[in-house]
Amino acid sequence: MDLATCFKKMKLVEVLAFATVDSDGAPQIRNISAIHYEPDALYFFTARGKNFCKELMEDGSVQILCYTKYKEMIRLSGKAYVVAENEQIKWRDKIFEEQPYLANVYPGDTRNIGIIFCIDNAEIEYFNLGVNPIFRETYTLGDVTIKEKGYRITDSCISCEICKKNCPQRCIDEGTPYIIRQNNCLHCGNCYENCPVKAIERR
Ligand code: SF4
Ligand code: SF4
Repeated sequence: MDLATCFKKMKLVEVLAFATVDSDGAPQIRNISAIHYEPDALYFFTARGKNFCKELMEDGSVQILCYTKYKEMIRLSGKAYVVAENEQIKWRDKIFEEQPYLANVYPGDTRNIGIIFCIDNAEIEYFNLGVNPIFRETYTLGDVTIKEKGYRITDSCISCEICKKNCPQRCIDEGTPYIIRQNNCLHCGNCYENCPVKAIERR
């Protein structure tokens, strides 16, 4: 799996959930399909009058969620920004060309109410629950640092094996200390809750 394949899957799923936070701190989620994918960026269309646009203009933080029929979750977390004025029409028309239904929603010149945002800095998490063991990996778009999540086993480990026996994905290997195979970990916390010497910490 890699970033390009994640983009291909997102394109195939077509309608994605975009989450923002409004000025009251409340989560807001919309389904968006007016998206164009480039290898190094993602462009999307909305209308300037929508609250979605207002929220993006205020902060830009956005999370996009894609779920395939194979139980794969792809989550992009990044910042969106308004594309430069002289590039707006180019990307808007490309999106309208790829998504013919948009000409029905915004016929003729009414598409001028549209605005194009770009995301070229983001973290993309791939999480596949349809394989055994489950598989996860994180990729970057642009210049971002991956935020580590989940759990790690520290040097306080006494090698008692309890975590290994309690792991639903059998993704803890023996060692000094024991070690979690991060690509196969659910982040469920069962090892953390059962360690008798509190040798496991959240990352
Ligand atoms: S339960 Fe704790 S002490 Fe026992 S093997 Fe796992 S991490 Fe080490
Ligand atoms: S968080 Fe869950 S899946 Fe991951 S190592 Fe611990 S018990 Fe296993």
